Parts: sequence; structure tokens; C-alpha cells
Amino acid sequence: MIKVAKFGGSSLSDASQFVKVKKIILSDTSRALIVVSAPGKSLTHDNKITDLLYLLHAHLKYGVDHEVLFEMIESRFKTIQKELGLKYDIASDFSKLKKELNKNISLDYLVSRGEYFTAILLSEYLGYQFVDASQVLKFSYNSHVDLIETEKCFKKALEENKKIVVPGFYGSYPNQSIHLLSRGGSDLTGSIAARAVGATLYENWTDVSGFLMADPKIVQYPKKIHEITYHELRELSYMGANVLHEDSIIPLQDLDIPINILNTNAPDEEGTLIKNTCDDDSQIITGIAGKKNFTVFTITKTNTAKKLKVLQDVLKLFEKYNVGIEHLPSSIDTFSVIVEAEQVEKVYFDLVGSITQVEDVTNIEVEKDMALISVVGRNMSTRPGIAGKLFGHLGANNININMIAQSSQEINIVVGVKNSDFERTIQSIYEAFVI
Ligand code: ASP
Repeated sequence: MIKVAKFGGSSLSDASQFVKVKKIILSDTSRALIVVSAPGKSLTHDNKITDLLYLLHAHLKYGVDHEVLFEMIESRFKTIQKELGLKYDIASDFSKLKKELNKNISLDYLVSRGEYFTAILLSEYLGYQFVDASQVLKFSYNSHVDLIETEKCFKKALEENKKIVVPGFYGSYPNQSIHLLSRGGSDLTGSIAARAVGATLYENWTDVSGFLMADPKIVQYPKKIHEITYHELRELSYMGANVLHEDSIIPLQDLDIPINILNTNAPDEEGTLIKNTCDDDSQIITGIAGKKNFTVFTITKTNTAKKLKVLQDVLKLFEKYNVGIEHLPSSIDTFSVIVEAEQVEKVYFDLVGSITQVEDVTNIEVEKDMALISVVGRNMSTRPGIAGKLFGHLGANNININMIAQSSQEINIVVGVKNSDFERTIQSIYEAFVI
């Protein structure tokens, strides 16, 4: 039985956090493959190492003095090394890195050093073998993970060394140059590693004990989600609930390797378990998430016989201007295209101008400042009257709904309301459904 355990930046923000992490890892011998992020924020540090490394790269690129910044990064690592009494000669690695700094240094290489140094420090502290991510996480030149090669390398590294620490967030191209994943990508390294070695569980250790049913900044003391399906989690993450990188479930879904979200600062607390199917039906809904600032383009067309053609022509324009579409509710004479406001900002006038030129389009109305809220729950589909209860409750609270969408699997209901009603809507949905 092998468990992959990934520790995020806040779990490794300073030496005292390393102490907690070691205790967790050594308390279960099946935690054999450890993935780490670079030190993040803590009570005493307001910066994430990764952010500082990006900043350092910008300083180098634009020829701005970077000494102080470099020292700040170096001192974070040196302090951890010193406080833990480790032998690793980090000072000499930093002086090597200093010599490599120039305005053309690869961004991916420089930024990846955060995870790299962290993994070396933790491996010595645990007595585990350090394995560089460039040797196990392999990318093809099109930047897709080469799953076959990656699986081979991870398996071999684990077989040869039994207990390993691997830096998250990066891997390498066939020519060995470093390639970074997107931000928060160590979560993804953990999933890929768990798949590669056929882990029984992927533990993702962070600074919260799992997912909450709603944002605690909006709902007071929301309940925890004990179990959630991959599918539900994707819907919630997509709508803004972010504890885990939203792509992390992709490598694990078909093998049904569960992910457990756990808290480094409260390791005995139950977290959230993410898997293919869940039996818990104590709550009707699993969670609520949402985002503000969407724009709705409502298009009226005359010729209903040419319905599809008008739709196609309009959608092509959104594609042309590189604007992603969130929802597409329609009626006989109209259809609405809902998009993130940020995406249309720069192309707004060109886009609207082009839509009005489309044959058979008679009118276009634009409504700004809409929020979308997604109510997610696998148990909603089996119980009648859920939508009625939802809309009735919002009506009773005097909240006007501008848009409704429900997926065919009935796993979520999305409502569109004014930005100014966003918080109130989430609060009243929570009150209506959570017991
Ligand atoms: N350190 C990287 C970031 O801040 C990757 C990660 O933490 O997963 O995005």
C-alpha cells in the first residue's frame, strides 16, 4: 500500500512547519512518495517564495537591482536549514545560482528552484531520498505530460529508493530543460505521481481541514464537506472554490484513486474525501460556489428557421475575439451568451459591432454586473422539488433571478443574479438547504 502525500506552501513555510510535516509523514509508513511546494506565507512571512522568484525574474529581465530580493529568498531557505540543523550545503547551491543569474535566465528554471530547494531540505530532514522532478515528470515538446515515460520514471525511482521526496510544480522536456506547470501545479504533480505508482490514496495536506460547503467569508461557520465526488468537485472549483488545482482530479478519476484534503496544522481532524462515488446522503446539496462579474449578451433573431445558422455565426465571433462562453440559455426568438466580463473588456465594441452585422440578428442587449452561483449536489437529482424550493426561497428573500441553468445530469443548478445580490443569494441558499 503506497500513499502519495503532497504538502502545500503554507505547510512548509518555515522550520516549525517542517517539524509538523515530518511528524505526519513518519506516523504512517505507507507515506512513501512525498511531493512539496515551495514555502508559502506564514505568520512571520508575508511572501510566497514562488511569487518572489517570479519577481526576481522580472527584475533580471528589466535590469532592476535584484540583490535584496535574492537575499530575501536565500535567507528563507538558509533559516530553515539552520533551524533544523541540516547538513545540506545550501549556501553553496545559492552561490552557484547567483552566478547563473542574468537577464536571459529561463523563467521556468529560476521559478522551479523554490520547490527544488524545499525538496532537498525535506528529504534530508526525513531521511528520504531526493528525486529531482526533472528526472520523473516528463513532458513532450507540446507541453503535455508524457504519461508513459512519467509512469516508468516514477515507478523506477520509488522501487530503487523506497521512500522519496519529489519537488512539485515542474518537470522536464526531452532535452532536460525545465517546464513549469500552471500556478498551484504541485497538486497536479501529486496526482500524476499517485497515478504513476498506483497509490491507494493521494493525501493533499494544506492549511484547512478540507472543503467547506460555502465560502466562510460569506456564510458564517459553514459545514464541512466530508465526501464529494470528482465531478461535483470540478463544478465547485470551476465556480471559484479553490483549495485544490481544478485539474488534479483528471489523472485519478478513471483509476478511482481517492484524494484526501487534510490539514497540516490539525492532522487529526477529518478532511474531505474526493472519489468517484459517495454514499453519504445526509445533505441534499454538497456545496455552493460562485463568481461575480459576468456579462450577458442577449441576441434577438427574426428568422427562426435559420436558428442554427445565426447561433453558429454569433458563436464564431466570440471564438474570433477569444472570449470563452460560460452559458448559453435560449428561447424561441432569443439566446443569451454569458461570458466573464474581464474577457470582453478590450474587445467589447468590436464584438458588439460584429454581432449586429450578422444576418437575421435584429437586436442585441447587454447586461453587465451579473454573478453566477452554482448549487452543486449529487443528491439533488433523486429528490423532487429541489428547484422549486430554491427559487421559492430566493423569491421570498426578494432576490431576482436573471438566469437559470441546470446540467442534464442534474448535478448542479446555476442561478444568475445581480452582483449586488451575490452574497445574499449564497446565504439564503445555504439557509434553505443545509441542515
Ligand atoms: N509554488 C507554486 C505556486 O505557488 C506551485 C504550488 O504551490 O503548487 O503556484
